[in-house]
Amino acid sequence: MALKDKIEELKEKNHAVIVAHNYQIGAIQDIADYVGDSFGLAKKVAELDVSNVIFCGVDFMVDSAVILNPDKDIIHPEPKATCPMAKMVDQEELERYRKENPDTSVVSYVNTNVETKAKSDICCTSSNAVKVVKSVDSTKVLFLPDRNLGDYIKRFVEDKEIDIWEGFCGTHDNIKPSHVKDLLKKFPEAEVVVHPECDPKVVDMADHVESTAGILKRAKQSRAKHMIIGTEREMGHRLKKEAPGKEYHFPGNPVCQNMKKITMEKMIHSLENLEPVIKVDENIAIKAKKPLQRMVEIGRGK
Ligand code: SF4
Repeated sequence: MALKDKIEELKEKNHAVIVAHNYQIGAIQDIADYVGDSFGLAKKVAELDVSNVIFCGVDFMVDSAVILNPDKDIIHPEPKATCPMAKMVDQEELERYRKENPDTSVVSYVNTNVETKAKSDICCTSSNAVKVVKSVDSTKVLFLPDRNLGDYIKRFVEDKEIDIWEGFCGTHDNIKPSHVKDLLKKFPEAEVVVHPECDPKVVDMADHVESTAGILKRAKQSRAKHMIIGTEREMGHRLKKEAPGKEYHFPGNPVCQNMKKITMEKMIHSLENLEPVIKVDENIAIKAKKPLQRMVEIGRGK
């Protein structure tokens, strides 16, 4: 039996739903019930009327889904799929910063582990980061962990002093201006849309700076025949399916190796055994839930 058919059969038998991040391989995106960005998936899981959710993404996304959905079993087919950027926050250093800067609000990107979220005042996504930083009362902010997204936020927030952590996503940071220039030489009419995790010099070259959800939206609206997309290359799978009729080019061919640790075979194992169910320490989960909920409230315009 083909892997795809086996997954469909097990999914039905065990009343499970599969959610997958935009950077998962095309075959997993195709078999998933929902595809989206990390926060979109966590919100989607909350709406589902099932108890078994197979979450194809990296660990911090799964943990956020667990924290926001304590009534469901969130199953991660490969718990070793992690995010190197989320690990760039040293907990002792963050604690020291908080003690030395008691009046500074700590805003953390959702791409952080639970310990970091538990020490933060509010979380944000790449699509609402500017809005979230503007929303905090204090005039001083620590933004972590992505220095490139921090730089992007600074361009829009003038009335706050913003300290930026020195973290970065290697997948996006490795996209160089020369990669974009080379593609523009071949396709001079191309529209350039990049994720704000990219190097500021790449951001400077872009026509639009968008989250993955924003990139998809822009692709659907754009009349360009060629688009240069500054994010993980698997995003092209969704773009070709949902915004067909143009060519998508990925400067530097960026790949997140951790996202690729999830395979169809590992999904079958998870569906057959309904494991591993991911748990988050309850004390940390309570603390990490507050900044996540504050982010959700900002998103609703409260
Ligand atoms: S693409 Fe970057 S931020 Fe996203 S999971 Fe991979 S390493 Fe982390």
